[in-house]
Amino acid sequence: MSIKDRSMAGTASAGEQYVIAPPPQPVLPVDGESARFPIRRVYCIGRNYAAHAVEMGHDPDKEPPFFFLKSNDNVVSDGRFPYPPGSTDVHHEIELVVALKDGGRDIAADRALDCVYGYGVGLDMTRRDLQAEMKKMGRPWEIGKSFEASAPCGPLVPAARIGHPASGAIRLEVNGKVRQEGDLNQMIWKVPEMIAYLSGLFELAPGDIIMTGTPAGVAAVQRGDRLQGHIEGIGELLVEVI
Ligand code: MN
Repeated sequence: MSIKDRSMAGTASAGEQYVIAPPPQPVLPVDGESARFPIRRVYCIGRNYAAHAVEMGHDPDKEPPFFFLKSNDNVVSDGRFPYPPGSTDVHHEIELVVALKDGGRDIAADRALDCVYGYGVGLDMTRRDLQAEMKKMGRPWEIGKSFEASAPCGPLVPAARIGHPASGAIRLEVNGKVRQEGDLNQMIWKVPEMIAYLSGLFELAPGDIIMTGTPAGVAAVQRGDRLQGHIEGIGELLVEVI
């Protein structure tokens, strides 16, 4: 059964009645468009830049890709990141965001980019202390990764306008000082490979977004910090920690 004919298996049909008000559909703005991009799932890849894998104490050569998810309502685009509870060590991770307009299972890498709607600049905000504790105990990462406003993201830029950037500077400044700097060409697993790999494990669908990993230089943020992300050819992301 594909996602298209799954209405009997859990999704609503048109005109459905609900026993409570339905939750709002999370969305991202699109550069130059009034229409929004509706978000379904948020896949995140770990340790996808060698220098970041090394700074986190891992050998980048020996590890296959691994993924975790955030909730779609963790994505925010209002430029504000409320410092979350339960942590004293919240880190920034600047990442290229890939938004899908199409999906499926077992997508070949050489046609994976046909599924891409566009790209954005995002932050995978991380409660590093909680993540480290969960890693040590062999427990899931959600409390470190998937919390309110943990995925600030700028407007998507359609691939129809900019193509599919495989290289270009990716950078994060905090209060005007460069903290993270790299190039998209340093990704260990490239975007088409990520889509192909994920589609072997999950059925991808329009509305899915993928956060593609972060270059080296992750560090803690404080209330009042101003984060400015930049990816060459895509744009800027401005976020204030409040
Ligand atoms: Mn990340």
